[in-house]
Amino acid sequence: MRMAEESLQLLVVSDLDGTLLDHDDYSFEPVLPILDRMDENGIPMVVNTSKTRAEWLAMRGDFGNVDPFVVENGSAIYDGDEVTVLGTPRAEILEKLKPLKALFKFKGYSDASVTDIMEWTGLGRQSAERSADRHFSEPLLWGDTEEKEEEFCKLIEERGLMTLRGGRFLHVLGKTDKGRPLEHLRKGKVAIVALGDRPNDLAMLEAADIGVVIATGDDFVLEADDVLRSTETGPRGWAEMMTQILDQLNIPQSQTNHG
Ligand SMILES: [Mg+2]
Repeated sequence: MRMAEESLQLLVVSDLDGTLLDHDDYSFEPVLPILDRMDENGIPMVVNTSKTRAEWLAMRGDFGNVDPFVVENGSAIYDGDEVTVLGTPRAEILEKLKPLKALFKFKGYSDASVTDIMEWTGLGRQSAERSADRHFSEPLLWGDTEEKEEEFCKLIEERGLMTLRGGRFLHVLGKTDKGRPLEHLRKGKVAIVALGDRPNDLAMLEAADIGVVIATGDDFVLEADDVLRSTETGPRGWAEMMTQILDQLNIPQSQTNHG
């Protein structure tokens, strides 16, 4: 772990689900005082999520956040009006999936109605619509054997794309990961703190100067070298570790009263 020198600017890059947001009840209150402290000291927080742009835009007001953000697992960085695409446009992904439909049994978001997606995900209508508003990835509900899935993943790779297992879905997306955006976000003398809880966060933790693994509420433990680890889970763990890091770097306390 490299510690920031005094002259270094700090940038915090964070996963959303299970990290900033509680995995079970989606609460995030514990992080708010820390976000105020960061705000008052000019430290941006870039959310780096597998969610879509529409999903984060609907949520970020609750965090009082206006900083750049990364969506769909490292596929694109949104910074004001500027978009940096690191993944593959969805139209291209769908085009490459077309011929595979005859060979494998799967159903994608693009084949589904909003009602289907609500059923698959348990989301309400608005949330399902935001989740379906994808620009760089296609989630598939796999309906074939495991063997066929392996074969499918290989064919996807040969077509210059990749697959990612996440919960119920097999995501097809461009060859990118949550670590790649960090080299674009690192402008000038900046030290990056990254926080995450799952395997898709590993590349991000490795690309950061200080990687922080947030404990999960289940028995999953993310294996990673040279990282700090929270004892508490989700947003509590986030607040615990960010307080430690900001204190260690002598970043002044927030002037806002959080009583
Ligand atoms: Mg997560």
